Amino acid sequence: MESTNRSCLICGRIEPEGITLLGRRICSGCEKLLVDLPVEDPDYDRYLAKLKSLWPDLSEERDQS
Ligand SMILES: [Zn+2]
Repeated sequence: MESTNRSCLICGRIEPEGITLLGRRICSGCEKLLVDLPVEDPDYDRYLAKLKSLWPDLSEERDQS
Protein backbone atom coordinates (compact mmCIF):
# COMPACT_ATOMS: atom_id res chain seq x y z
CA MET A 1 0.00 0.00 0.00
CA GLU A 2 2.77 2.39 0.84
CA SER A 3 4.51 1.78 -2.46
CA THR A 4 1.59 3.21 -4.43
CA ASN A 5 1.62 6.33 -2.32
CA ARG A 6 5.25 7.01 -3.04
CA SER A 7 5.28 6.36 -6.75
CA CYS A 8 5.51 9.46 -8.92
CA LEU A 9 2.20 10.19 -10.59
CA ILE A 10 3.89 11.39 -13.77
CA CYS A 11 6.61 8.85 -14.44
CA GLY A 12 5.38 6.17 -12.05
CA ARG A 13 8.79 5.58 -10.55
CA ILE A 14 9.36 5.35 -6.84
CA GLU A 15 11.88 8.02 -5.98
CA PRO A 16 13.16 8.79 -2.50
CA GLU A 17 13.16 12.51 -3.19
CA GLY A 18 10.28 14.59 -4.39
CA ILE A 19 7.32 16.69 -3.38
CA THR A 20 3.81 15.80 -2.37
CA LEU A 21 1.18 17.97 -3.96
CA LEU A 22 -2.47 17.61 -2.99
CA GLY A 23 -1.64 14.20 -1.60
CA ARG A 24 0.00 13.09 -4.85
CA ARG A 25 3.63 12.32 -5.24
CA ILE A 26 5.90 13.95 -7.79
CA CYS A 27 9.53 12.89 -7.90
CA SER A 28 12.27 15.48 -7.94
CA GLY A 29 13.07 14.70 -11.56
CA CYS A 30 9.56 15.40 -12.81
CA GLU A 31 9.22 18.41 -10.54
CA LYS A 32 12.37 19.91 -12.01
CA LEU A 33 11.13 19.10 -15.49
CA LEU A 34 7.87 20.93 -14.88
CA VAL A 35 9.56 23.93 -13.34
CA ASP A 36 12.20 24.22 -16.03
CA LEU A 37 9.89 23.53 -18.93
CA PRO A 38 9.23 26.66 -20.99
CA VAL A 39 5.56 27.43 -21.60
CA GLU A 40 6.10 27.36 -25.36
CA ASP A 41 7.46 23.83 -25.15
CA PRO A 42 4.98 21.36 -26.67
CA ASP A 43 5.64 19.05 -23.75
CA TYR A 44 4.36 21.69 -21.36
CA ASP A 45 0.78 21.34 -22.54
CA ARG A 46 1.06 17.58 -22.34
CA TYR A 47 2.24 17.66 -18.75
CA LEU A 48 -0.32 20.25 -17.81
CA ALA A 49 -3.11 18.21 -19.36
CA LYS A 50 -1.90 15.16 -17.49
CA LEU A 51 -1.78 17.04 -14.23
CA LYS A 52 -5.27 18.41 -14.74
CA SER A 53 -6.64 14.97 -15.56
CA LEU A 54 -5.05 13.63 -12.41
CA TRP A 55 -6.15 16.58 -10.31
CA PRO A 56 -9.74 17.40 -11.19
CA ASP A 57 -9.76 19.46 -8.00
CA LEU A 58 -7.64 22.08 -9.69
CA SER A 59 -10.09 22.89 -12.46
CA GLU A 60 -13.09 22.57 -10.16
CA GLU A 61 -11.70 25.21 -7.85
CA ARG A 62 -11.41 27.67 -10.70
CA ASP A 63 -14.94 27.00 -11.87
CA GLN A 64 -16.41 27.85 -8.51
CA SER A 65 -15.41 31.49 -8.67
ZN1 LIG B 1 8.53 11.33 -11.79
